[in-house]
Amino acid sequence: MTRKSKVKRSQRIMIWLYPLIAIGGLFYPFLGYVMLAMMVFLVIYSYFKARYWCGNLCPRGAFLDIVMPYLTLDRSYPRLLTRKWFRWSVLGFFMSVFIARIMATGGNPVAIGGVFISMCVVTSLIAIPLGIATRPRAWCAFCPMGTLQETLGKVGRRHAKAHRKAVRLPSSSDRNSPKS
Ligand code: SF4
Repeated sequence: MTRKSKVKRSQRIMIWLYPLIAIGGLFYPFLGYVMLAMMVFLVIYSYFKARYWCGNLCPRGAFLDIVMPYLTLDRSYPRLLTRKWFRWSVLGFFMSVFIARIMATGGNPVAIGGVFISMCVVTSLIAIPLGIATRPRAWCAFCPMGTLQETLGKVGRRHAKAHRKAVRLPSSSDRNSPKS
């Protein structure tokens, strides 16, 4: 399969949101609210579809799949990046910084939008050089949003399984009732 054929149509559409937010947001911080909307969507959606967002809709994921293959040195990245404790530490760190920065805005809507934009820029400054030095999707191995989606997806699957089991299990009254 060629690099080109692996890219999904949805990714070709969503990729445009990446420069729009990361670059356009520097001039118009309200674009940060697009990122907020996407984060809310992916958190809810991941409960049902785990990391579907990552492989199909994420603008940064699309960029890493479409552009980075032309820039990457394609070398394996340290296994540390995939360790559970490392991924959760990264999630904890980014969430703490994010919450602290949102609180520091004092509720100013422009500043709140700016927090989302700066998070996008900072994480891109990690994701892109890392993708060049190692593999295109190296960032996705420990991206906080990826970790969150994976966890919510597992919770969703566990709930769905428990629900199916509960629906299938006959109650004691069923067992005692005569078969029709
Ligand atoms: S892991 Fe993060 S950057 Fe990668 S596709 Fe998923 S949400 Fe996007």
